[in-house]
Amino acid sequence: MPSIPANSNSEPTGHQLLLDVHELSVCFRSDDRTNTVVDGVSFDLRSGEFVALVGESGSGKSVTALSILQLLDYRHASHPAGEIRYRGDDIRKFDEKALRNLRGDRIAMIFQEPMTSLNPLHTVEKQIGETLLLHKGLKGTAAKERIIELLELVGIPDAPGRLSSYPHQLSGGQKQRVMIAMALANEPDVLIADEPTTALDVTVQKQVLELLRSLQKRLGMALLFITHDLSIVRSYADRVVVMQQGRVVEKGDTQTVFDDPQHPYTRKLLAADN
Ligand code: ADP
Ligand code: MG
Repeated sequence: MPSIPANSNSEPTGHQLLLDVHELSVCFRSDDRTNTVVDGVSFDLRSGEFVALVGESGSGKSVTALSILQLLDYRHASHPAGEIRYRGDDIRKFDEKALRNLRGDRIAMIFQEPMTSLNPLHTVEKQIGETLLLHKGLKGTAAKERIIELLELVGIPDAPGRLSSYPHQLSGGQKQRVMIAMALANEPDVLIADEPTTALDVTVQKQVLELLRSLQKRLGMALLFITHDLSIVRSYADRVVVMQQGRVVEKGDTQTVFDDPQHPYTRKLLAADN
């Protein structure tokens, strides 16, 4: 069984290869047919990088993200073909225990709609506390202090006063901040954010984006940011991977791709954005 290496940052930021996705393919089966929705997708992610995965709705971005953490529902989806390496180890070969460690500690994920990920019956303290207990064995005062620290890290005002809040008592932006706090609780080195600002008001979108960007820089985390919003890519991403109908049609550093797009689909996306 592959072991999960410690979170060592011995190499300079931006150089350590954390995630290497190679020729990833996924199909979904329905009654009479099989649809290949991710088709030979390859890209990588290095420490400290902000990589954007873009493409219009249905292009296979979420399926790619879920495949990385082996979170697809295999009653309908095929097991991903290809390789998904985290620090050199193929995640597809991990057993359940190694996968749990990976998801809890090393690669965190946040989604578009925080309400579906937060338990409506649990306070902020309990939601984050469960993660800390499960993965770090923290409880009592130590857990409480860490929760407050995390809430402050994600910019929730009056963090101690928010411990007893329930999700419905928080704004959309605050809920997403709580999700980010939970995702960061175990100091992951990769954060996959699947359209994390799409459901938020425009002004709040920008605040959450700025938060993610500053956390990514400050914690030296790698961020795989999934979006269909090219203005976000232009402002924030170091590199961009463009998907169309399950395939990567173009990838490169953001400036180069925006200045001189090679693929007709990228040109079309950029033209639509202007
Ligand atoms: P994106 O995130 O880029 O909008 P998705 O990765 O969610 O796109 O979906 C890619 C394709 O896979 C779409 O055609 C979608 O309909 C299909 N798909 C996603 N999830 C399922 C599923 N559970 N069963 C069948 N098809 C699915
Ligand atoms: Mg999606």
